[in-house]
Amino acid sequence: MSRSTLFATWSRYRSIPIVYRIGAAFVLGSIVGLVVGTPATQLQPLGDLFVRLLSMIVLPIIVFTLLMGIRGLTPSKLGRIGGQVVGLYLLTSAAAVFIGLALANTISPGTGLELTSGEADTQSPPPFEEVILGIVPENPIGSMANAEILPTIFFVIVFGLALAMVAETTDSDRVRTGIETIFDVAEAGAEAMFKIVWGVMEYGVIGVFALMAAVFAEAGVTAVTTFAVLIGTLALAVTLHVLLVHLGAIILVLVGESPVAFLAGAKEALITALSIRSSSGTLPVTMSNADENFHIDESVYGFSLPLGATINMDGTALYQGVAAIFAANLAGVSLTLGEQVTVVAIAVLASIGAAGVPGAGLIMLTMVLTQLGLPLAVVAFVAGVDPILDRLRTMTNVSGDLAVTTLVASWNDAIDFDRGSWIGDHAGQSGP
Ligand code: ASP
Repeated sequence: MSRSTLFATWSRYRSIPIVYRIGAAFVLGSIVGLVVGTPATQLQPLGDLFVRLLSMIVLPIIVFTLLMGIRGLTPSKLGRIGGQVVGLYLLTSAAAVFIGLALANTISPGTGLELTSGEADTQSPPPFEEVILGIVPENPIGSMANAEILPTIFFVIVFGLALAMVAETTDSDRVRTGIETIFDVAEAGAEAMFKIVWGVMEYGVIGVFALMAAVFAEAGVTAVTTFAVLIGTLALAVTLHVLLVHLGAIILVLVGESPVAFLAGAKEALITALSIRSSSGTLPVTMSNADENFHIDESVYGFSLPLGATINMDGTALYQGVAAIFAANLAGVSLTLGEQVTVVAIAVLASIGAAGVPGAGLIMLTMVLTQLGLPLAVVAFVAGVDPILDRLRTMTNVSGDLAVTTLVASWNDAIDFDRGSWIGDHAGQSGP
């Protein structure tokens, strides 16, 4: 192939929007995994590289965008936005568990199956007080070094607010200039991080192909068929939740925007969540969608999205409801109404405590099952298909973060419609 043909092919390839290229890689990788079988697991490191590249930018992007966002915030505005964000996060997670429970009660996954014995993952979730205390870092640099998101958010907010307050009250020009410089550096840093995100997404085509090939090579068709009902119930429940709560109630009714435009603007984040099973890992892409496609001000998304990636997990909460019914059916017991109400409370707590990493929801299931006195062996039982269930959960988690962020932004006039309408602006967008 001559150099010019090679170049033309490359340009044609690049002109296809990144989300379609990644989507194709997703489908092709799955097929290759199923057809080739075990040897395809060798591709895993190529997939791991994609996850690592995304993890690399999570922390810097949080620090830069948060600092940059705080520049335009007063403490009272932060308090108002923060209250709205947290309130909506809790409300939507509770709604998710209700939908999960309702559907699982109707479809009744797990009935007719016998529980095979197996050792549950004994890793237990942290107690609730520890989750709350853990928000305050003992050592901010240590928290950043360990990529602990909540303590990092806490510290950066405190630091940013202090900077904003000093800038307002100081008599020294030198100090004020210094503070301006810190905020300018944060803005430049955030821009650079978004540039990196798009570079990483280019590699994502290979990464996603490899990840899917490895997953299907390992799980095979049997895993999919054995748990088809469980997977189907979860798929139906999350679809219902996204349609009713995220797209219907939030985007259409409360924000007054088109749900289709919302999905189009969130597509890169959703497909990344589906591929890497981590809402924290997806964060750079979610933030870039909020910024570039939804034109939301960083004073809202810089705070709400990192927080959402750690505490707002509609999909994870919903899954606890479905899995509790599944476990009860496997154990041959039925949950009373009171017990199901308990499921809502623990599931919301569990989803707050769960980190936005692959499989976190499975570990949280131990907390829910213990509370209900259901056999922990169910955790081992569903672990085999968790890579599939986790994708549905994570995508729903990310959709919830973006929907709530959009609503809070619209309530606080923090969407810049002058940068173009949602649909018009990102039609055919393929990155930078
Ligand atoms: N993987 C999910 C997330 O990152 C958490 C879970 O396992 O449910 O959002």
